[in-house]
Amino acid sequence: MKNIITVLFLFIGLNTFAQNTVIKAGHFFDARSGKMIDNQMIIIQNGKIKEVGANLKINKTDTVIDLSNSWVLPGLMDCHVHITSNLAYRKGNWNDDAVKESNALRAIRGSVIAKQFLDNGFTTIKEIGNDANYATSDIIKAIKNGWIQGPTIIYSGKIIAPYGGQSSGVNPEHENFWDWEYIDADTHEEIIKAIRKNIYNGATVIKLVTGDNGIYDEEDIKVAVTEAKKYGLKVTVHVNKGGQVATNVILGGAAAIEHGVDLNNTELQLMKDKGTFLVGTDFAFDNWYAYGFDSTMAKSMVDLEVDRLKRAYIIGTKMAFGTDNFNDLPGLNRIQSNLKILEVWKLASIPPSYILQCMTINAAELLGLENSRGVLEKFFYADIIALKNNPLDNIDAIKTVQFVMKEGKVIRKD
Ligand SMILES: [Zn+2]
Repeated sequence: MKNIITVLFLFIGLNTFAQNTVIKAGHFFDARSGKMIDNQMIIIQNGKIKEVGANLKINKTDTVIDLSNSWVLPGLMDCHVHITSNLAYRKGNWNDDAVKESNALRAIRGSVIAKQFLDNGFTTIKEIGNDANYATSDIIKAIKNGWIQGPTIIYSGKIIAPYGGQSSGVNPEHENFWDWEYIDADTHEEIIKAIRKNIYNGATVIKLVTGDNGIYDEEDIKVAVTEAKKYGLKVTVHVNKGGQVATNVILGGAAAIEHGVDLNNTELQLMKDKGTFLVGTDFAFDNWYAYGFDSTMAKSMVDLEVDRLKRAYIIGTKMAFGTDNFNDLPGLNRIQSNLKILEVWKLASIPPSYILQCMTINAAELLGLENSRGVLEKFFYADIIALKNNPLDNIDAIKTVQFVMKEGKVIRKD
């Protein structure tokens, strides 16, 4: 009995006097309501949030971080990234890069870009394939080992697709060249095997491509969703075409459609009804131009995206933020290049509070992190950022990151 009392006393004592970090937030973004609340305090212990509120008690031993002149938000999330790729400006050629860049080089680039994400306020990313021979798997291990700093990475492994991956024009002598980044899966058995292979290599989400070469029918998608679900994973699908290609994916039960630039109102409504997320990846003019499109083509793509984004917002299709960009624009780092796409969200008149929700609470739901990240509440991880300017006035304020905390650890404080 005496021992139990001693242990109990020690436990209470440790909790009372444990070293807390306290953030004083001048303006605090409540991701659930999409509203800014003034003068909040966040108490952090052992990497997680212990308490949030106004006028909380501070212990003498606590470390206080004063962000009373800043806008404090949950760490941002990008649900569609390619950290190991960087196509040459306007001369991009996936086949060329696959031949000339080793897996090691891709992993080194990926680790540099992962750190750029974290330093610029993105504490969680979804790496969605085209990462050579599972290069990201090693980046995740290096982050977990503490060798390098990076965001939480939800990872797809290789992209699963009907025969040919997303290649075109590869001659028959080099058949299977695309296996570097894709797994051919044309039957239900092959889809199941591909999912198991990706999970073996570290995948935490399953990505399919449909409609670029072959097309998956509803039953194919259901097989993938059922198999992934056994391991607690979700299926997300690259779809550029509307019509039956998209409908198969939605009715098959995928968690999200990536891109979906051609989706019509019927498909967007069906997504809303089924709870399918849209990760729109709406490149700005500069992103399309960097990819190699001419001005006319780039402009018409932006017009299509603005129109689809507007319709999705009005219909109420669930959305999560994703950039997809794989080009560093001249003079800009990856994140600055990615955030060009905010121009498209602004052209579509999407309110800043909703864009922030797409980057936080909505993204967390899509990524299966709704109980651990995406809002600043008790028991959630202390993934916290602060901005110099008010993002509700102008969403471009997310480019003014001046503080980043990842799981209670300060990564950046300007
Ligand atoms: Zn992509």
